[in-house]
Order: sequence, then structure tokens, then C-alpha cells
Amino acid sequence: MKCYRCQKATMKPGRGMERYEEAAGLPYPVLLANVPVLRCASCGEEAVSIPDAEALHRAIARYIVASRRPLFAGEIRFLRKLLGWTAAELGREMGLDEKTISRWENRKKAMGTVADRLLRMIVRDRALDRGEPDLVGAVFPDILRERRPPEREPVRLRATRRGWRQTAA
Ligand SMILES: [Zn+2]
Repeated sequence: MKCYRCQKATMKPGRGMERYEEAAGLPYPVLLANVPVLRCASCGEEAVSIPDAEALHRAIARYIVASRRPLFAGEIRFLRKLLGWTAAELGREMGLDEKTISRWENRKKAMGTVADRLLRMIVRDRALDRGEPDLVGAVFPDILRERRPPEREPVRLRATRRGWRQTAA
């Protein structure tokens, strides 16, 4: 394959690791494994293509919804964007005003435990695949009430033939 940078026919397809930058705002990195990459053996040029970004966003949302601690500000924004809603629209759905949503997202106000659960339920109902195991119901009793600093451990997702799968480190 011809390299679009150096024009030599040394561009070859492979697989690689990628740090996903499109989920900006999350307080931890999202690391992707087995991502299709075109690499030039002559000039080192790389072209990464993220397969099925929508499915990837749902996989990240599944990780967030199943987390056993209160939602972080960046996660609230990520979930709202996954829903495709403005702060006003999410507020209407939750029976709150737009300013409350913005204060959560800007870390000016802590989200209460009821709102935390409600947002997860909305995301499960509106954005995640039906037929998933009922991860929200299973996890709710375990969500810790204490606020902890954001976990810096990356989320690791692997591209497989059956879609994005969460993996261990
Ligand atoms: Zn090249």
C-alpha cells in the first residue's frame, strides 16, 4: 500500500494499542487494544482507525454505569452526550433545572445518590443495548456513598470480532 506521506509502497496494515482521546473529560485514560493501524516501514507514518466509535462509546458507558462508586463530573457529561442531550434536556428528564446539571458537570455541586442512580437508569434504558444483563440492578446496592478522588486506572477495551470488550490490565 502506498504511503500518503512519503509515497513509497511500504504502508502495511497491522494492529496496535491506542489511547482514546475523544472521551476527553473522563478523569482516567481509555486504552484501546487490537486497533487497526496502517504503518509505513519507511517514514514511520501511522494511521489509526477506530472501529465502530458508537459501540466504543456504549462500552465506555457500560463501564461507567457499572462502577461501584459515585459518578465523576466528567462521567456525567460523557453519559449526557451519549444520550445526545443538552443539559436542559437531561434536566427535564430528571425533573431538575438545567443549572443543576451544569453544576454537577462543572464540579460546583455534588450529585446526590438518588440522581446518580436515576442517571444510570436513564442511560441503561435509552442508550445501552436491550437484552444486556441487568447490570444496574445488580450494582446499585454496592455503590459506595463516600466520595473518593478519581481513579486514574485506565479503562481497557479490546476490539474483537464481536465488538468492544473490556479487559484487565
Ligand atoms: Zn511513508
